[in-house]
Amino acid sequence: MAKIVLDGVDKVYPGGVQAVDNLDLEIADNEFMVLVGPSGCGKSTALRMIAGLEEISGGELFIGDQVVNDRPPKDRDIAMVFQNYALYPHMTVEQNLAFGLKLRKVPKQEIQRRVQEAAAMLGIESYLKRKPAALSGGQRQRVAMGRAIVREPQAFLMDEPLSNLDAKLRVQMRASLNQLHERLGVTTVYVTHDQVEAMTLGDRVAVLRDGRLQQVDTPKNLFDHP
Ligand code: ADP
Ligand code: ADP
Repeated sequence: MAKIVLDGVDKVYPGGVQAVDNLDLEIADNEFMVLVGPSGCGKSTALRMIAGLEEISGGELFIGDQVVNDRPPKDRDIAMVFQNYALYPHMTVEQNLAFGLKLRKVPKQEIQRRVQEAAAMLGIESYLKRKPAALSGGQRQRVAMGRAIVREPQAFLMDEPLSNLDAKLRVQMRASLNQLHERLGVTTVYVTHDQVEAMTLGDRVAVLRDGRLQQVDTPKNLFDHP
């Protein structure tokens, strides 16, 4: 588990759009931090910089005690969950969960253990042998989360992971995410434009606007003093 620190982080895209402007944010060990704000405020860009999928234009990014500005994603020990699941269609659920671990040469028995444990936590044991096409949207999203969990990373990054689900499933998945976080206690950065999601999931919520940090506080304080 690791803290994540953004110290004066900027992102200017080629063409001159300043998507993130001097962002200071400290995400504690084991904290569930939600980035919220309207479309275009820079949430995804901030998350993608933490993931290493987008270059940082200025400032410093720490994961643990290390500056990781120039480190590729594979050297950051984080796992990302996307809204479109990004599952391998030709593999079963079990193979999808195991694939990243095989690439990292994790021993077979250890892979088995992690896959079984993640599947049990997410309630997906009964369809380990199915392919993604035979799953509902909610089931696919659970598999996508399982793939992140089996990595046992220092941090989870999630970009609107529930936005393709219907309202009822979203409520269910919010509860599952809360349970998972309680159980695993992994530092999490979660992007959403949905204020209810932000308030129900976050230990703290960072409100972004036009690439800048407007407020960061607990849901209770934000709700009491909006
Ligand atoms: P959000 O996730 O809050 O919707 P984004 O981080 O996607 O916001 O975008 C922030 C700003 O940066 C927007 O003005 C968007 O159009 C711009 N932007 C995002 N990605 C790119 C890109 N690859 N090239 C140029 N501009 C981009
Ligand atoms: P989001 O869901 O974060 O708002 P979008 O659906 O707007 O993102 O964008 C999807 C992809 O397009 C992202 O990879 C983003 O970086 C890229 N993108 C967004 N805005 C621009 C832009 N103005 N120019 C180029 N690429 C962009």
